Amino acid sequence: ARVIDGTNVVKEYQTGAETVRALKGLDFHIDRGEFVSIVGPSGSGKSTLLNILGLLDIPTSGTVLVDGNDVSALSETAATRLRKRVIGFVFQSFYLIPTLTARENVEVPRLLDRKPKETTARATDLLERVGLGDRLDHYPNELSGGQKQRVAIARSLINDPQIVLADEPTGNLDRETGDQILDEFDRITDEGVAVVTVTHDDYVSEFADRTVELVDGRLSDV
Ligand code: ADP
Ligand code: ADP
Repeated sequence: ARVIDGTNVVKEYQTGAETVRALKGLDFHIDRGEFVSIVGPSGSGKSTLLNILGLLDIPTSGTVLVDGNDVSALSETAATRLRKRVIGFVFQSFYLIPTLTARENVEVPRLLDRKPKETTARATDLLERVGLGDRLDHYPNELSGGQKQRVAIARSLINDPQIVLADEPTGNLDRETGDQILDEFDRITDEGVAVVTVTHDDYVSEFADRTVELVDGRLSDV
């Protein structure tokens, strides 16, 4: 099943009188349970594409369907609701809240709309799955980089997303720790969740099911 489907996607930025065409008519798709790596030089449009995939921005023209929903037709509220339901985010610098424990950090994206007991049970389960069952009450500054990223992965899964978007997830980690993160992604995809990374780390792309390259706003298979 298709999680994301993009057709002739164009994104332009207007800066004063100048128009920058960051994405020049992309066709792409992300299927259930696949691991796709996006690579490309700086300025090629990777962040722009990730923002569109993450429902943080909409294309200037073309069509992007996320779980069958045309993102350009959604209200701000509907886009936020769809983002929370379908998409999880993982970042290079983890973005954990320092004053919250590992478990509380995992609960954050779900706090407003679910029962607290269920949320705590789910967060505990997710942390156990990523091998942090003995770190539930630790604060981020008591965790290693790899452990912090595993907390972030658990957090990305709290709302049962269909896709996890990971921006340089291994960028702050050594190779061995990065491999542990890839193992987590491998398990997630086995459960049917798609993982999309933007990365400069070649070993991530080697591990991915599919790698696509952006160059100057155009996409090609690698
Ligand atoms: P990457 O993530 O691959 O480095 P970006 O998506 O950040 O590429 O940028 C693609 C192009 O769009 C670049 O030419 C960049 O300067 C331009 N760009 C990105 N964001 C903006 C913006 N908010 N306003 C104007 N131009 C932008
Ligand atoms: P079970 O029935 O074994 O408890 P479910 O199928 O109910 O498992 O739940 C699977 C969920 O667990 C998926 O939504 C996925 O988000 C999450 N998941 C799968 N693998 C991992 C993993 N390695 N780390 C964290 N969460 C995972």
